[in-house]
Amino acid sequence: MEVAEMKERLLQLAETFAEQEAHLTELDRAIGDGDHGVNMLRGFKALPDQIDDSSMAQLFKSTGMTLMSQIGGASGPLYGFSFVKMAQVVDDDFSKEQLPNVLEAFAEAVAQRGKVERGEKTMFDVIDRAREAVADGERVTLEVLQSYAQDTVDLEATKGRAAYFKEESIGHMDPAAQSSVYILNALIGEM
Ligand code: ADP
Ligand code: MG
Repeated sequence: MEVAEMKERLLQLAETFAEQEAHLTELDRAIGDGDHGVNMLRGFKALPDQIDDSSMAQLFKSTGMTLMSQIGGASGPLYGFSFVKMAQVVDDDFSKEQLPNVLEAFAEAVAQRGKVERGEKTMFDVIDRAREAVADGERVTLEVLQSYAQDTVDLEATKGRAAYFKEESIGHMDPAAQSSVYILNALIGEM
């Protein structure tokens, strides 16, 4: 995949987050402060002005820097840092063969920055399962990603704002588990 196509996919996410803003807000209202929809939309809406398509690495890095500076919440630094880390492993021809490395960089960045493990009801549950499935050669469709997000419903949150809800967080989907479905789908989908 060429830089132009990946750029298109990343810019397309602004539309996805515009469509999903209310839903993400609703998820974050249940076990957070209700700003996740606004946060994600603000971050991706700023992309057209700030994205640098001079190389694949620059594309990822500028995306990361934009998300870091535009998204106020916990998710901004996590997604932002992840794109900066992915920038270090992408080549100008982003191919299927690179995907395992890219997702490994994504998962490692979140684990490191968020000091998070699987089962804590965060974006990491979706990102790390996607990493693992791709590494195992499985086909990771939007439906598969959505099922990973769905599986966060039964978990108790132990990281971020949702952790304040303790066992009351059980029964709700983690907001960034849902937003990471869209981001991962842009990276993985149809290569
Ligand atoms: P805030 O929690 O500051 O309001 P957001 O609402 O934008 O920020 O993001 C909340 C999301 O951030 C949660 O759904 C969760 O998945 C993720 N999150 C919070 N803390 C961590 C962490 N330590 N590691 C991984 N993800 C985290
Ligand atoms: Mg929030």
